[in-house]
Amino acid sequence: LTQLRQDPLAGHWVIVSEDRSSRPIRTKAPPRSEPRGGWLCPFCEGNESTTPPEVEAKRSARSEPNAPGWSIRTVPNKFAALRPDASGDPAKGDLLEAVPGFGIHEVIIESPQHQAQMNQFSRTKLADILAAYRSRIRSLYEDKRIRYVQIFRNEGYLAGASLEHPHTQVLGLPLVPDVIQAMVNRAAAHQESKRGCLTCAIIKRELAQKERVVFEGKRFVALAPFASRVPGEIALFPREHQHRFEESSDDALSELAAELLRCLHAMRQAFDNPPFNLILITAPRAEGKAFPEKQLARTFHWHFQFVPRTTRPAGLELGTGLNLNPVAPESSARRLREALRDRATWAGTVKR
Ligand SMILES: [Zn+2]
Ligand SMILES: [Zn+2]
Repeated sequence: LTQLRQDPLAGHWVIVSEDRSSRPIRTKAPPRSEPRGGWLCPFCEGNESTTPPEVEAKRSARSEPNAPGWSIRTVPNKFAALRPDASGDPAKGDLLEAVPGFGIHEVIIESPQHQAQMNQFSRTKLADILAAYRSRIRSLYEDKRIRYVQIFRNEGYLAGASLEHPHTQVLGLPLVPDVIQAMVNRAAAHQESKRGCLTCAIIKRELAQKERVVFEGKRFVALAPFASRVPGEIALFPREHQHRFEESSDDALSELAAELLRCLHAMRQAFDNPPFNLILITAPRAEGKAFPEKQLARTFHWHFQFVPRTTRPAGLELGTGLNLNPVAPESSARRLREALRDRATWAGTVKR
């Protein structure tokens, strides 16, 4: 069974995907660093035949698809949350609403090496990975049934990573998630009353006030969001207004790679190397009157979110959707800034 179901009381949507229950999941956390062997890692070089055939790869000119010789490899997720072949009629008008679990779920295998954390990647390597994000979003948005592409990366078992091998997930959704819809609506409302982009206005305000600024780069600015959900949360925005990440130039991606590494360094230093989720927020697929491209271009502003697992969501979060953040974002920002004070230290950790 693969279905998207709407909760009739609260209105939220849930992906019900039974296929995922057979994926290699463990109920206990594995040791922090798990040696290869014992079980076959499907993402390691040499094991290409254990994944579905690749849809895209950065590989040496002499190498063959689905064979060794790659540096980044994108494959359909074998244990997909949503399926490209899901079909059937939506169940409507009977109190309970559900749609077939159509969607595209891919994995970007970031490196042939099993043991690497994101902070160990060089700037060039990370820029290549970002170029893969760009390419997959462009490609998935070509499918008219895909309304939002969510790119996310889970690092650490407690952040939901079921495989240690470094990878990013790409999920093409047949609906625009409530969170994104809310961002679109709020940006549009601001534009109507105040003119201009809400995010641009916030960046300007934060830069003037400085209290929550983690760092100010040439093209990007990192903030501890005013309503950070957890201690150490960072949002990284392009300073120049742009609604789609997937329209970034190679130059911008190279700069972005350096700034993501800077965020990582700050987070690891200030919050003791926490497990984390990296989330990319970009504009939904342009669509007639619901999401006119012209309006998205004026009002939406893409960004990255680093959400470290510094607290454990529990009953309050599940019951109310309210996060309880025990550290003021202003003090988080101060700690993150201090972690970057010794420029030589973080610059020294970044390989070209
Ligand atoms: Zn591996
Ligand atoms: Zn903007």
